[in-house]
Amino acid sequence: MPGRAPGHVATAAAPRRRRGLVLVPLLLLAVGAGWAVHVSDGDLASLVRPRAYVEIDGEAVAVPLPEPAQGRPLPAVPVTTSGSHAFLHTAPDGAPVGYDPCRPVRLVLRPDGMPEGGQALLDEAVAQVQAASGLALVAVGTTDEPPLLERPLIQPERYGEGWAPVLVAWSDEATVPELEGQVAGVGGSAAVPGADGAGTWLAAGRLVLDAEDIGGLLEREGGAAQARAIVVHELAHVLGLDHVDDAGELMHPVTSSRTDLGPGDRQGLALLGQVACES
Ligand SMILES: [Zn+2]
Repeated sequence: MPGRAPGHVATAAAPRRRRGLVLVPLLLLAVGAGWAVHVSDGDLASLVRPRAYVEIDGEAVAVPLPEPAQGRPLPAVPVTTSGSHAFLHTAPDGAPVGYDPCRPVRLVLRPDGMPEGGQALLDEAVAQVQAASGLALVAVGTTDEPPLLERPLIQPERYGEGWAPVLVAWSDEATVPELEGQVAGVGGSAAVPGADGAGTWLAAGRLVLDAEDIGGLLEREGGAAQARAIVVHELAHVLGLDHVDDAGELMHPVTSSRTDLGPGDRQGLALLGQVACES
């Protein structure tokens, strides 16, 4: 590929992500546009603890209660570097919105179309991002969920009553048009309210990799590092990092000679791993 490796983009986030408090889930992950939140003040139980509802396809669905947790599964990563970094979602006070660091970030793999070496590549990328963020990224099995743009955020029949786990899938540009051209992967998550309506966290992410692009890189001499850099970049989108203009960071929108996390990438991931836990 003359000069440029496959680029990669956040899941079409740009038009929506600067609208302030994000109760609209990131991008096209939402089920239709009718997403809203209100806090119920109706029944007795909700007097003790208010409960937020989200509207999905015209139906009010209770925001899933967080799993019981006793502190963080992994320690927070101290911020020891500084550099360009940006967040896809921020609270009104500018604080980053990330996954709840007191619960594991669950990943499900759709193995269809995975190129040779794909599993090892995913494992390495996940390990890198976990080490940099202090978030526990846990593989919880495989799925046949299609990597659709409009991914339902709650899928009781597939994943139970909670938010859907992060979907990791391999696909092609015929199935996922976002992968057209030099785009080798897309990643993002939804920003959702806490169960009591207070606070915002990420949930139900989606990471879709172009099997042909990544498989091609894996077959090339020296291509594995670049392939891993792409997966790490997309995983960082899933965890809440946005693009930066600094070509010295992995979160630059176009791949370059950089194949490991830069100082700003590390700073951003460490900060995303330090957001408040949902109680
Ligand atoms: Zn990107």
